[in-house]
Amino acid sequence: MIKETIEKLEKGETSARELVTHYQDQIKKKDSELNAYRETFDDAFEVAEEIDKKIKHGDTPRALEGIPFAIKDNILIKGKMSGASSKILEGYTASYDATAIKKLREEGAIFLGRTNCDEFAMGSSTENSAYGPTKNPADVTRVPGGSSGGSAAAVAADMALAALGSDTGGSIRQPAAFCGAVGLKPTYGAVSRSGLIAMASSLDQIGPITKSVEDAEIIFNVIRGRDELDSTSLPRQGGASGGLASKIIGVPREYFSLVEGGKEGLDEDVAKKFSEAIDFLKNKGFEIKEVSLPSVRYALAAYYIVMPAEVSANLSRFDGVRYGPREDGKNLFDVYARTRERGFGPEVQRRIILGTYVLSAGYYDAYYARAQKVRYLIRKDFENEFKNVDLLLTPVSPHPAFKIGEKISNPLSMYLEDIYTVPINLAGVPAISVPFGTVSKEGKELPVGVQLIAPWFEESRLFEVGKLLENK
Ligand code: GLN
Repeated sequence: MIKETIEKLEKGETSARELVTHYQDQIKKKDSELNAYRETFDDAFEVAEEIDKKIKHGDTPRALEGIPFAIKDNILIKGKMSGASSKILEGYTASYDATAIKKLREEGAIFLGRTNCDEFAMGSSTENSAYGPTKNPADVTRVPGGSSGGSAAAVAADMALAALGSDTGGSIRQPAAFCGAVGLKPTYGAVSRSGLIAMASSLDQIGPITKSVEDAEIIFNVIRGRDELDSTSLPRQGGASGGLASKIIGVPREYFSLVEGGKEGLDEDVAKKFSEAIDFLKNKGFEIKEVSLPSVRYALAAYYIVMPAEVSANLSRFDGVRYGPREDGKNLFDVYARTRERGFGPEVQRRIILGTYVLSAGYYDAYYARAQKVRYLIRKDFENEFKNVDLLLTPVSPHPAFKIGEKISNPLSMYLEDIYTVPINLAGVPAISVPFGTVSKEGKELPVGVQLIAPWFEESRLFEVGKLLENK
């Protein structure tokens, strides 16, 4: 935990060097099996030494002094390779720091390495990485979730104290839930996207994956804020903690009918855990109210139009000319085509094709324009219900971590994994995934998370109630 670690540093009970050694030892011991890291950074020790000097000198520790981080492979760190776990970016070295990285660095963070993810953050299992799947530390036959599976596994297996991930439709929250970590998807615009390799720009947000809600809060407070390099970023705003006026939490009815009876239905044990979370909060004096978000039943359909449309535009820059390896061809077009065919994996290609289709003349109105209207309705649904409740509570995912290989050949069943998380990205509201115990499957204890959703810029409410839930 961040606070305790910094206290120890200050008292001289540990050193940044010792911390880096500890995590590197853990990585050496565990990561050949888990494959959470794509690369570890040798210069972590140099940074640690500088920090130790400062502390010896009596400098007051900064907010993240000496805290060792794992960084998702789609967030740029100056001078380090960054590849979004795609072959098309193999060998690409970042020429600048993402704004979130710059802010972490300024507060004393140490970067241990970059973590495996689904290629260009597209997926829910980390199996779409071009560099092999990451395994779930709780059961290595299962996926860690995705797309920030490497970051979540690194934190859960004690191979980093904290991590950054990115979340376009659930990629921070779902892997956090599968691995037993905390994952925060901030309000759209709260954290700069500068230096995040774009997937779908109107949905992407960078956020922390941590061992505790308090750690997520500390990191969020460091990385948030307006940034000139991202025109969609907004100044710090939102209520202070203690902002829960009425203590009313809504549970959206549609979240259950979405999966009821269907093949992809909510797992019984996960449902039981969710009821326990409701009872727990009732005992803490919260009123739990059933609410309705009628348009969320169309969220997944709208997401799988809006997202690929933006993906097809964002990924057009990877043509072998500006970044990464280049294939030879008869002419320029042939170079582009061969490079993209070789460089992109099947899921990325599927989404590019889908995206160009929904944006093409003749189909634009039927698909893209309609999906945008649905998105507006979803946003309105959240706005309406947040007039009556402080927060919403839902499961993070319909199941605990599934088996490696179980869903990879069926994209639709993989997409259904996102049913509880994508409405939040479409609306732009913040949400946190908090571990809430485990369920037993085939003799293994698998972590389960619950999701709290707040109105725009009310992250402080997520932290307040999240802290109660994690300490149940
Ligand atoms: N699993 C979702 C998808 O495949 C979300 C990905 C993300 O949030 N980056 O699109």
